[in-house]
Amino acid sequence: MAEAGSFAEKVKQQADIVRVVGEYVRLKKTGKDFSGLCPFHQEKTPSFTVSPIKQIFYCFGCGKGGDVYNFVMDMEKCEFPEALKVVAEKCGIAIPRPKERSPEERKENQQRAVLVDIHREAQTFFLEQLEGTPEGKAARAYLEDRGLDKDAIACFGIGYAPSGGDSLLRHLKPKYNDKLLVDSGVVSRDQSAGRLFDRFRRRITFPISNESGKIVAFGARALGDDMPKYLNSPETPIYSKSYVLYHMDRAKDALRRQDFAILVEGYMDAIAVARAGINNVVASCGTSLAEPQIKLLGRFTRRVIVNYDPDTAGQTATERSLALLLEHDFEVRVLALPPVGNKKADPDLFIREMGAEAYLKLLKEAPPYVDYLIARARQMDLTTGEGKLRAVNFLLPYVQKIPNRILRSEWATRIAQQLRLDEPVLRAALSKAATERRGEVKTQPELVGRAAKPVERRLIRMLAEAEGFRQELANHLQNAHLYHGLETEKIFAALVIASLSGQPVQASEVGALLEDRDRRLLFEILFEAASEPTWEEAMSCIEALENRQAEQELADVQRSIEANPAAPEMRGLLEKKQELMRRLAATR
Ligand SMILES: [Zn+2]
Repeated sequence: MAEAGSFAEKVKQQADIVRVVGEYVRLKKTGKDFSGLCPFHQEKTPSFTVSPIKQIFYCFGCGKGGDVYNFVMDMEKCEFPEALKVVAEKCGIAIPRPKERSPEERKENQQRAVLVDIHREAQTFFLEQLEGTPEGKAARAYLEDRGLDKDAIACFGIGYAPSGGDSLLRHLKPKYNDKLLVDSGVVSRDQSAGRLFDRFRRRITFPISNESGKIVAFGARALGDDMPKYLNSPETPIYSKSYVLYHMDRAKDALRRQDFAILVEGYMDAIAVARAGINNVVASCGTSLAEPQIKLLGRFTRRVIVNYDPDTAGQTATERSLALLLEHDFEVRVLALPPVGNKKADPDLFIREMGAEAYLKLLKEAPPYVDYLIARARQMDLTTGEGKLRAVNFLLPYVQKIPNRILRSEWATRIAQQLRLDEPVLRAALSKAATERRGEVKTQPELVGRAAKPVERRLIRMLAEAEGFRQELANHLQNAHLYHGLETEKIFAALVIASLSGQPVQASEVGALLEDRDRRLLFEILFEAASEPTWEEAMSCIEALENRQAEQELADVQRSIEANPAAPEMRGLLEKKQELMRRLAATR
């Protein structure tokens, strides 16, 4: 979080949370605050509030809240350093260059920058080849045949790697040494002769960008019958295929808005789907999804429609990806496209032949993954006990991967019904799988509502805002141990410490110290309508707390007296009782 005096703190002071949030949410002024429809949950009436005075936001619907950085982190699904950059950029503040830690690190960063340069130059080269050479013309005809016109070619940066074998190499060689060229992956070294040559020859090239839109690799499709049909860049210092999803850089906005992703296998599929106006599509660019890719996707949405190729490899990939997605708590549907004519259809072919409308319709109807799996299991021979067992064994691992216990048990029942499993053993295996899992049911964020008593709420508000007497009030509360044992004890403790520091209290900083439930309660209290605090009111709240404490003590004393009437300390207890009763009577 933003430390006092740090760059982050400076940016925060200059950034206006209302302006930053206003770039994402339509805000309306309501009293001192602004409100709008929460971008983090679906709602029709605004429960999302921003306070320009406290520079914080809070949603009464879903409980999200915090400062401008928390907002940007949630919105952009990024970590703090990235959020800081975003906010600084929005406010036109230059970011100091991060210090590089060691000479090696500096060297690595430089190398990475050069590798990105090489990719940029290679990309320009491939584009020129497609545009201006006879060979490129043939490639263009092929692309047009695949439904990729000029617009699409320009939009997705599609290019052409010529057949010569060293044209790109000759183009890059004057500027980069051999080692860098080989490290970049666009050039390969002949193992025996040690000679360099272009990795991609006579192929259509597709630039693969990382999340921030920098080209870090290429995918290339053979123009003729060359094998392999698809050839990608190797792993390099700037590209690791399990960390990159094709089209992610362009899909981000749509993913956030639509809150679901369409996952396809290759770049041709992703391009076809995106061309149909469906931008929330990403491709795994390999047969199955890797864990880092799932984590990347999970930052934007947890709902996925898997639309892999209908061939055996695609089915296996679908099932492997399903298992991983379920483990990471994704809500998964599977779209298995029907054949077009007698051809098995991938998204690219299907959209080309049947049109975007037809694809969209099927997308909307895509069944939950369990229906897909059951359908697959039903293709097995279910007439024998053995066959049924095989089907159950196929399904069990998926059931076990569902983190939600209730869902798990529902699926188990459904599978039993659909596969007509009446054998008690098979049923038992399923229900065992349904109960056995450590992960527990995810609950909706509990609404704190009117949890704390009004007096506590009022005092908390004063500690946060009453600049005039905050410190004195904090002293008083602390010395008299007035908040010990209260439901709001931790909030009080954090605010008292902040107030006694003599610095202005930053609600978001205090909030950051608290556990989720307490933090939400604090934000809720800070956004309640309230009048200007006065010292008199503070005193009457304190008195109410003192009385409550006295009442509690009195009850304790009374219990001790009744528990052991012959106790030697009875005299003291009775005196204490008298005193507490006197004190309470005086305030009434
Ligand atoms: Zn919300």
